[in-house]
Amino acid sequence: SWLRICARLKDEVGEVEYRTWLTKIALGPIDGDEITLLLPTRFLRDWVRSQYGDRLSELWHQENQTLRRVELQVARPGDPAPVPLREDGPARAAATPFQDDTPPPRPTPSIPDSRSDLVTALDTRFTFDTFVVGKPNEFAYACARRVAEKPSSAGFNPLFLYGGVGLGKTHLMHAIGAELIKTGQVSVAYMSAEKFMYRFIAAIRSQSTIEFKEQLRSVDVLMIDDLQFLIGKDNTQEEFFHTFNALVDAGRQIIVSADKSPSDLSGLEDRLRTRLGCGMVADIHATTFELRISILEAKAQASGVVVPTKVMEFLAHKITSNVRELEGALNRLIAHANLFGRPVTLEATQEVLHDILKAHDRRVTIEEIQKKVAEHWNIRLTDMSSARRARNVARPRQVAMYLAKQLTSRSLPEIGRKFGNRDHTTVMHAVSRVSELMERDAAFAEDVELLRRMLES
Ligand code: ADP
Ligand code: MG
Repeated sequence: SWLRICARLKDEVGEVEYRTWLTKIALGPIDGDEITLLLPTRFLRDWVRSQYGDRLSELWHQENQTLRRVELQVARPGDPAPVPLREDGPARAAATPFQDDTPPPRPTPSIPDSRSDLVTALDTRFTFDTFVVGKPNEFAYACARRVAEKPSSAGFNPLFLYGGVGLGKTHLMHAIGAELIKTGQVSVAYMSAEKFMYRFIAAIRSQSTIEFKEQLRSVDVLMIDDLQFLIGKDNTQEEFFHTFNALVDAGRQIIVSADKSPSDLSGLEDRLRTRLGCGMVADIHATTFELRISILEAKAQASGVVVPTKVMEFLAHKITSNVRELEGALNRLIAHANLFGRPVTLEATQEVLHDILKAHDRRVTIEEIQKKVAEHWNIRLTDMSSARRARNVARPRQVAMYLAKQLTSRSLPEIGRKFGNRDHTTVMHAVSRVSELMERDAAFAEDVELLRRMLES
């Protein structure tokens, strides 16, 4: 029943997410093998579709085997209202602050037929199309493309993808899987190393290891994600090693990801490390500012919400280590903008992402301020301490002094010393000059504000 599905979803996604998104769903008609779910707005429909669509399909299918498709639609006046869950108490009056004039929705993809129970559902958002390519990941991307086009070619088997958390390893693996499945010619198994281990243990318990091995060895492409999980799990490693050899010897493609290169995965058996390293090893490097901006641009564009460049620059400066976090921050901004119908601004960003930004905060130094300001106006860092007085150099220097005063606890003489041993009165003058200019010149004020936010601790 729907209530059972709701309860399951609530357990899976947590109370907050559940209340935010899923209590808005109303049941529509069932027609043959298709059930319609209704959402109050187009935004909610798209959101629920992208975030929960596949899961909803799965759960409905589990409830009722004849249902193969879940259609998400925007409710029209007169359509049924969401069914409140018991714990919800009485249905709250729908106070939806947005209107919607929606063209007919596109159908959601139907439930994929799993080829075998080795196939962990691939995330349909992770495709080559949605992967943004830049210097740090272009090699890994090219290798992934190549393997998707021509699995098991010499030199690309195994394909070993490695890199830090949240840099796109899983995304690329799913993209390969999706591409291969599209052609329909090959069987693909994808699972995390963790899952691999649990399956293996379960097989031992139920005395079905032979079936498990046969299943594994029958696929054309085997993908194991986050192999570092097998460190210290010697029996599972052993099993993986044999499967690995059997598959490669039979000309099947293996794709593995890990957080380190094969040679750095100490704790994995030597012979396994050696074999892992003898195909193609591709490193996904940490993102650059440029790549982070491109990713934000792509995701903002896909969402249809206007995100100002300044906001993207701000996020790309603040959240540097992990694309997942960057994406999470942007998603929250977009959801917020949509829910409250307010434009995305720097102020709103600071407010909405308060907790995330705080986690990325740290004390700023005068050197960092000088560097950022110099970069921003494209002057040499040495000009922060030079005697040059040309306006295009002196103005940024004054801004850096102003920000040093605002963002650090250094005294005026201390700040002066860091700027080529200038006198404290020079710093004082810079501070008042910049404040004055900010009042007169909105564009300038915005630049300074942006710099401040980027640097702020
Ligand atoms: P990993 O497996 O390396 O920890 P993921 O593949 O799970 O990282 O990526 C984390 C999130 O960031 C995913 O939502 C993914 O879509 C996104 N992501 C990472 N790199 C890119 C990229 N180059 N372009 C678009 N999205 C990306
Ligand atoms: Mg991953």
